[in-house]
Amino acid sequence: MTPTPTTWLRMFRSSLTLKIFSLCFVCVHIPLIAVIAYLGSGSGSAPVSLLVLLLIATVVGTGLCLCGLWWLIRPLRNLAAAVEEYQAHGGGLDLPVNSSDEIGTLTAAVATMVARMDGAVKRLHHQATTDALTGLGNRRWLGERVDDELGRASRQAEPLSVVLFDLDLFKNINDSHGHDMGDKVLTAVGQLVRTHLRRYDLAARMGGEEFCVVLPRTRLLDAFAIAERLRKALAGLEIPPLPRGDITASFGVYEAAPGDALQHMLSMADKALYVAKNNGRNRVADTRQLAQQS
Ligand code: GH3
Ligand code: MG
Ligand code: MG
Repeated sequence: MTPTPTTWLRMFRSSLTLKIFSLCFVCVHIPLIAVIAYLGSGSGSAPVSLLVLLLIATVVGTGLCLCGLWWLIRPLRNLAAAVEEYQAHGGGLDLPVNSSDEIGTLTAAVATMVARMDGAVKRLHHQATTDALTGLGNRRWLGERVDDELGRASRQAEPLSVVLFDLDLFKNINDSHGHDMGDKVLTAVGQLVRTHLRRYDLAARMGGEEFCVVLPRTRLLDAFAIAERLRKALAGLEIPPLPRGDITASFGVYEAAPGDALQHMLSMADKALYVAKNNGRNRVADTRQLAQQS
């Protein structure tokens, strides 16, 4: 299809290369046009050989000029392509800086700015998704990660369970030993959870003294056993002056059903957790006990 004048105009407007090429094409031809205009006005005459030479020189000059410009503008085209690629797909900006001229300076500056921005975005994302006290993920992080895990579980027809636990009578620890001691306990609980989980399990502090563990590829009974192991480990924690057995937690366990969303899983695990609290704390309950209670 032949481009229409409007298409040409649009291409011209959006291409610096085309603008520079057009400008140089016209400028290189000015001497030739001037000679033709001079001869055309009848003010003088020139041998045909001189005109042919002038024409050949203009064509060669134009070709060399356009090739040179194409080569000079190449880093700018690479920069524009890399920035477009970065906007579309993110990732790093792979830009070699081959010259110390203005384009080289611009390329180096853009690469540095993008690297700094990427670093800042990663740091902000880490801060926004990490619980500063325990180093575990927070509720937002869990929300982001669980969607992937639920998708994988449903595609591969694998089980997935969730364990929610809440420290028992934690307010008493704060009241008797101070808020800093409470923070120390929360930090220790975070460390303990991390050491007890598998590489692909997800652990988060949901807020206050409530924690959540998502266990991919895990049936209810196995999740119950993992929660029981965590419960015993917590009860064995000794953080002076708190004696062993003062830090305990109640656990609720739920195995996801097909199509469950995180919110529903948390609400089911929360119900089981409150069965554990009502039955005397420092114990694990799951949704089967929920059915028995109602
Ligand atoms: P229960 O067994 O019923 O869960 O009793 P509890 O005392 O653990 O529950 P409650 O909800 O009454 O108290 C929770 C306490 O956790 C109150 C709050 O001050 C404390 N808390 C919440 N977040 C933090 C924190 O970041 N640091 C400290 N030190 N305490 C916190
Ligand atoms: Mg509590
Ligand atoms: Mg609580």
